[in-house]
Amino acid sequence: MPITPTRKVWMDGEFVDWDDATVHVLTPTLHYGWGVFEGIRAYETPNGSGVFRLTDHMRRLYRSAKIYYMQPPIPLDDSIGVVKELVRINGVPTCYVRPLVFLGYGEIGLNPLPSKVRMAIACWPWGAYLGEEAFETGVRVKVSSWRRLDPNVIPPAAKGTGQYINSSMAKVESLKAGYDEAILLNTNGFVADGTGENLFVVRDGVLLTPPLSAGCLGGITRDSVITLARDLDIPVREENLVRTDLYTADEAFFTGTAAEVVPIREIDDRALDVPGPVARQLMQAFNKAARGLDDRYKDWVELIA
Ligand code: PMP
Repeated sequence: MPITPTRKVWMDGEFVDWDDATVHVLTPTLHYGWGVFEGIRAYETPNGSGVFRLTDHMRRLYRSAKIYYMQPPIPLDDSIGVVKELVRINGVPTCYVRPLVFLGYGEIGLNPLPSKVRMAIACWPWGAYLGEEAFETGVRVKVSSWRRLDPNVIPPAAKGTGQYINSSMAKVESLKAGYDEAILLNTNGFVADGTGENLFVVRDGVLLTPPLSAGCLGGITRDSVITLARDLDIPVREENLVRTDLYTADEAFFTGTAAEVVPIREIDDRALDVPGPVARQLMQAFNKAARGLDDRYKDWVELIA
């Protein structure tokens, strides 16, 4: 997806011009993938721009950094103010926010510890990741031949930059085969998640999603949808799913910051109900909550001013 430049990017303590937010080609993260990042969305609300679950996203960023022995250059609490200020300065009330913690230029080698830890945050306006029409028509999905990273190979609990080549390989494979998105199974054959989304299926009115132990990311949208479902008296269970559970589901949908809540129309050419009644209900509930239109979830909406 093309990036629309905004005015400023925050880098290591200052707001620099968009075009000056650059690094040297020998930046170690570029070579070995040792970095962590987040993806966050801000939405326009009746009270101005609100960043959806900003604190939870930044907590996850700092947890990811800890897994990779990195201490971000500013405290977590300060990073929250920086994101709000960045969205304000750039004048983009509805946008995608991308924080990145990475290793700075100066050292090179497989020991990341001597490198200086750097941090950057950018934001820009970004549309529907899987296409606007996907919310109505749903996406076509292929179960990937690539397996999700095993927790003892590379920890899927972190959003490490390098580990996304696993997701990208699955994404490209699915696109080249004519699908919109992929689902990855773990090395035991259980469903993990999409390339940048968590997965839910509906069977007999029950919402099912893989547990974190299946190797999926602890998605913030996933967590939000579980809460919304419980509040709507929709039974939810976290349980291991196998491939045929996907084929026999009544409905299925993805959740993610970039993708939001998106119904799935087909999995490996088996048709599903689109958007099914449960997905529709949860899409509506999520869209209202994220836009500050439901007071019960106002804590999720972190206003920039
Ligand atoms: N799984 C993977 C592999 C992801 O990259 C993402 C996006 N961060 C998700 C799930 C969804 O997580 P979230 O709802 O927090 O964006």
